[in-house]
Amino acid sequence: MSKDYYNILGVGKTASKEDIKKAFREKAHLFHPDKPGGDEKKFKEINEAYQVLANDEKRQQYDQFGSDFTQQGGFGGGMGWEDIMRQARQGGGSYSNVDFDMGDLGDILGGMFGGGFGGGSRRRRETRGRDIEIGLELEFKEAVFGADKKIELIKLISCEHCHGNGAEPGSKIVTCKACDGKGQVHKMQRTILGNIQTIGACDECRGEGKINEKNCTQCDGQGRIKQKVQMDVKISAGLNNGMSLKMAGQGEAGIKSGKAGDLYIHIHVKSDPYFKREGDDILTQTEISYSLAALGGKISVQTVDGEVDLKIPAATQSGKVFILRGKGVTRFQHYGRGDQLVEVLVKTPEKLNRRQKELLEELGKEGI
Ligand SMILES: [Zn+2]
Ligand SMILES: [Zn+2]
Repeated sequence: MSKDYYNILGVGKTASKEDIKKAFREKAHLFHPDKPGGDEKKFKEINEAYQVLANDEKRQQYDQFGSDFTQQGGFGGGMGWEDIMRQARQGGGSYSNVDFDMGDLGDILGGMFGGGFGGGSRRRRETRGRDIEIGLELEFKEAVFGADKKIELIKLISCEHCHGNGAEPGSKIVTCKACDGKGQVHKMQRTILGNIQTIGACDECRGEGKINEKNCTQCDGQGRIKQKVQMDVKISAGLNNGMSLKMAGQGEAGIKSGKAGDLYIHIHVKSDPYFKREGDDILTQTEISYSLAALGGKISVQTVDGEVDLKIPAATQSGKVFILRGKGVTRFQHYGRGDQLVEVLVKTPEKLNRRQKELLEELGKEGI
């Protein structure tokens, strides 16, 4: 069902970018799920509308085709709700090829995670490990049937020597003297209006209030070290090109006891010279002789499961498509498999010997 994004944001069809931004901010604040009278569903809808209307290219497509176009993937990888929340937690940036201005949402989402994104949650943000994104290439059949893959990546893992706390084993973790364990210090700032006192995170202990008496000799107090890691990844049957797998907690280790980031594996499926994929179906082409097309018979067709027989009825025209049920791709996260569609092409003979030529001439006289 097509949605009216202009109506959702309450702006006219000719609204300027500024108007759209303004309307989005107002509406988003109004329906923020954490506020009294907030409405998560509406909030998401507003966000969806803004994602499209704030982008010139998407807006033009929307004006032309309506919102259904987005659901068919026409807008190509727009950010989903999960992406936005993930990004919000990380504090902005850009994800894949979608530019997303966190400035617009940062203050709105800020309240949802107990601390603003503009500095208030600085300490928490720094300790979480970063997400890692990698690409993984699959053979055509691996994507069809699933596979067990081994991947190798270099990432920051928790330091074994200090068990991730950054202190050399046997040494103590002591209260930071600079901030007296508070993690915060008063700082004097010289301005034209005179000296102003501000409160900020303690530089000595990075706001933790505690300090290692002796830093771990292996990780220099970071609690994590860079290492080559091998991982087994189970690829489910039916994954397709452009899909991504999320492996929670498999990104970089957090600083000290911080939460690990996530690992995102972007799937690339190699093309196959014979099999072409369309959703869960597999398309192939096969040539048959003119006489077989006319008289009918049986041919052998290659499928991802091996060869199968295909009955060609008499009077088959070139371009006719036959369906081999259940010979397609395993449906991802569903039961069953797609089909194989076999397009039959009637081959015109190229080199004829004398007898073949005579026979065809005879047929020609018969009007065939
Ligand atoms: Zn260590
Ligand atoms: Zn301190």
